[in-house]
Amino acid sequence: MTTPRHTTPDLFENFTMTIGGHAVAGAASYGVVNPTTGEVFAQAPDCSQAELDQAVAAARQAFPAWRATSIADRRRALHAIADTLAAHLDGLMRLLTREHGKTHEISTVDIMGGAWWCRGTSELDLPVIMFEDSDIRRGETRRTPVGVVGAIAAWNYPVLLALIKVAPALLAGNTVVLKPSPFTPLTTLKIGELLRGVLPDGVLNVVSGGDALGPWLTAHPGIDKVTFTGSTQTGRLVAASGASTLKRITLELGGNDAAIVLPDVNVEEVAEPLFWAAFRNSGQVCLATKRLYIHKDIYEPLKAALVAYAKTVKMGDGAEQGTQLGPVQNVAQYKRVLSLIEDAKAQGYKFLTGAEPIDSPGYFIPVTLIDNPPEHARIVQEEQFGPILPLLRFDTVDEAIARANATEYGLGATVWSSDLDTAAQICERLEAGNVWINEAHYLSPFGAFSGPKQSGLGVEGAVEGLLEFTNAKTYYVRKSAAA
Ligand code: NAD
Repeated sequence: MTTPRHTTPDLFENFTMTIGGHAVAGAASYGVVNPTTGEVFAQAPDCSQAELDQAVAAARQAFPAWRATSIADRRRALHAIADTLAAHLDGLMRLLTREHGKTHEISTVDIMGGAWWCRGTSELDLPVIMFEDSDIRRGETRRTPVGVVGAIAAWNYPVLLALIKVAPALLAGNTVVLKPSPFTPLTTLKIGELLRGVLPDGVLNVVSGGDALGPWLTAHPGIDKVTFTGSTQTGRLVAASGASTLKRITLELGGNDAAIVLPDVNVEEVAEPLFWAAFRNSGQVCLATKRLYIHKDIYEPLKAALVAYAKTVKMGDGAEQGTQLGPVQNVAQYKRVLSLIEDAKAQGYKFLTGAEPIDSPGYFIPVTLIDNPPEHARIVQEEQFGPILPLLRFDTVDEAIARANATEYGLGATVWSSDLDTAAQICERLEAGNVWINEAHYLSPFGAFSGPKQSGLGVEGAVEGLLEFTNAKTYYVRKSAAA
């Protein structure tokens, strides 16, 4: 690894793609909107098909030398990425807040979470499994890199989601073409710029662009594997697109996570963590609580505590001190959340807070709680991905589990109780890849993260996630040539 070529780039302008270690401005550009103001504040490169070809070619060219490095060198590279993020945290987190709308605090978590993921991933090992060591033969399975990885991220945690892909891909010896969401390209582009010279040229390429770029990337014959985070709807398209060249695919998709709250909780204590389980990052978290099932014995007091807490929470410009919730990130998502509110109004459901968009040029929707809508309501059945939550009353645990499981999604679920054994038994019965008791959202690079059902395909994190960036290669060594 060498010293960074760019130690003090201007983080708020001159956004360029990184292809083969060089800046590429792109033949065209598009405007990036600050969701707090609703105004375009920067231009991002709009990658052409020819520029994508260059990025894939650069990754292909860099692959043989990168795969030949030792895993110790690649571990050092992950630490160098983390160090670079930490060194530029202040500027990066301000930029991220401006393009995303999230608070400085959550932007810091997004960036330093990415750094933490790099450091954690660097501790993983590529296993060598010896399955035979007899007088005649030694047999072992090793892991080899897949080749060029196309990494596509969603807009809700642009940096963390990107590095959850980049770190294991690089550690396994692959090279990468990374594509952020068109809504939040800027921080990722700057990270690409900051890493020029930190990583060898072509090992990490960053391209940005509009709606055409994702499909070009997933269909590209020079891409060996696609790792994708986004909606279930788009995930299906990615799987279909990769089929023509049988690309390896990992999909981390949508969720409609249930929280089940048992009657033995301390209502005053759980109201605040339950609120944040649902509303952190303005509800734009794949693992946010999206359906809150509350036992009938505590429904009314917990409802009152949640409403009271919601009224204390400050929504506004994420760059201002004291702001706890920012706007919805983009106009498409803003309209989608408003359509769920309009539907709930049309059906006559009862609103406990919120409901009316805030009069502002930005995409602000207040914290909206809906009182026990029916199970078939759109706000119960669909992933809202915004600051709106249905509170749902249940009578028995069996009923709550059945309702929690009655979804095409299977990403996460939480159980809240002072009886950890009972909560664990409920977790056993929940059809979800990630379950928490008395907390939400915590993730570790050493824990396998997966979305069963239509929440995904494959695993991120832990050795299982690392192996998704490898092929198995099995060696049979005859110890003597004699028959
Ligand atoms: P999205 O599916 O609209 O877009 C995700 C990414 O895919 C973007 O970079 C986009 O440009 C790209 N894309 C769009 N169409 C494409 C296509 N046809 N081929 C290839 N790429 C394409 O999702 P979003 O709105 O950015 O993100 C929100 C969704 O992501 C929610 O459903 C959320 O639950 C999910 N999500 C899941 C996880 C997880 O780990 N499971 C994490 C974060 C977000």
